[in-house]
Amino acid sequence: MRLATLSDRAVLLTDTGAVDIADASAGRFGPDPMDVLADWTAFRAWAGSAVLPAASPYRTADLGAPVPRPRQVFAVALNYRPHAAEAGYVPPEIPLLFTKFPSCITGPNARVELPKGRVDWELEMVAVIGAPCHRVPASEGWEAVAGLTVGQDLSERVLQLTGTPPQFSLGKSYPGFGPTGPALVTPDELPDRDDIAIECLLNGESVQAARTSEMIFSVPRLVEFISGVCPLYPGDLIFTGTPAGVGNRRVPQRFLGPDDVLVSRIDGLGEMRQTFR
Ligand code: ZN
Repeated sequence: MRLATLSDRAVLLTDTGAVDIADASAGRFGPDPMDVLADWTAFRAWAGSAVLPAASPYRTADLGAPVPRPRQVFAVALNYRPHAAEAGYVPPEIPLLFTKFPSCITGPNARVELPKGRVDWELEMVAVIGAPCHRVPASEGWEAVAGLTVGQDLSERVLQLTGTPPQFSLGKSYPGFGPTGPALVTPDELPDRDDIAIECLLNGESVQAARTSEMIFSVPRLVEFISGVCPLYPGDLIFTGTPAGVGNRRVPQRFLGPDDVLVSRIDGLGEMRQTFR
């Protein structure tokens, strides 16, 4: 199942177009995507057996963030060994968490305003929480996940790395710094939910490419670690970390400018395209 936000309404995407969930369910679910997620278990049961009306064609440009207003956004630093190495750190022994404040979340085609400083890319797979949960063991971690989507943890490196110790979260939370989408894809759609190819292209050149099986802490282990402290709510996002190839560790360094086109692609989840101004 592929769930998306089209002109601010929750839709199911099919091979031929989009089905409005509120219309198809006679008002039982939606139209607010957050309401669909808040009733996730019942929605999945309905969507699994409902006879859907014909899908309508839609414009990709009208897609918004599949989870437009998450209560909590968790993000994981240094979750791929080659990225930890390029950043000059030993791999962490426990997940290293920060937040992207939720006001930065935007959709898959957002044009992002560049603040002063040095803005860098970080392609990441994002896990979306389904039912409310707390203290979930890793063995049940996937059951807490409604679906997966593509994310960019855009980062302004000067603010992120200033200070001793530095504060990660603000430099990663400018408006538009959390593009997500194009859809929330349920893990059963994927051949192997633990091993997914991810790739980031800058102006057509591949700058990051990895597989999620290379993550130091897998999705279920992240759910266990985070939910061991914080109760999780429907629609909460977990940015699972970026692989090697970010701009501030390249030689020479490379940061985003107004002429750049950033494409973020994850097998089975789809593709986002960011431009800048
Ligand atoms: Zn990141």
